[in-house]
Amino acid sequence: MKIRLAGILPNSNSNGPGLRKVFFSQGCSKHCDGCFNQHTWSFEGGKMCDCDKLIKETIDETYLAGVTFSGGDPFEQPEPFAYIAKKFKKHKINIWSYTGYTLEEILALAKKNKFINELLHNIDVLVDGRFDKNLTNKKVIFRGSSNQKIIDVQKSLKMKKMILWEESNE
Ligand code: SF4
Repeated sequence: MKIRLAGILPNSNSNGPGLRKVFFSQGCSKHCDGCFNQHTWSFEGGKMCDCDKLIKETIDETYLAGVTFSGGDPFEQPEPFAYIAKKFKKHKINIWSYTGYTLEEILALAKKNKFINELLHNIDVLVDGRFDKNLTNKKVIFRGSSNQKIIDVQKSLKMKKMILWEESNE
């Protein structure tokens, strides 16, 4: 299984809690005005990487608090991201994923696309929604703009309603 990546950040402390490895998906159709990662928009750019190699390297990095899928939009490349998410989950690795879709849009897409469904079910936290350059402020952590939500995916699926990550940690 191959995945098209714009890059990998081996150690980041701003893409979710703790020290995390960040996988930047290549390809995003949302084209939000003011996007910081416009080089990740093309679905033909970046580099094809071997998923099993990435998984093996990462599970050996036991000092990490978790991994984060960013972009680009990982949910626009759901098959390989679902594949690596499932393998990481088997090793109890905490997974955050960013997406330009809202949770509501993903739930609708998941009914028609099994890989989107698998990806959603194997991540811990989703940071959802398009970037809005008019809604940025210094208080917004782990997000680009305040319209985006940090969602506890597993609790939300279990309770069948949206549970924000901040609420689930109170
Ligand atoms: S969804 Fe994210 S990567 Fe895509 S255009 Fe918007 S801000 Fe950029």
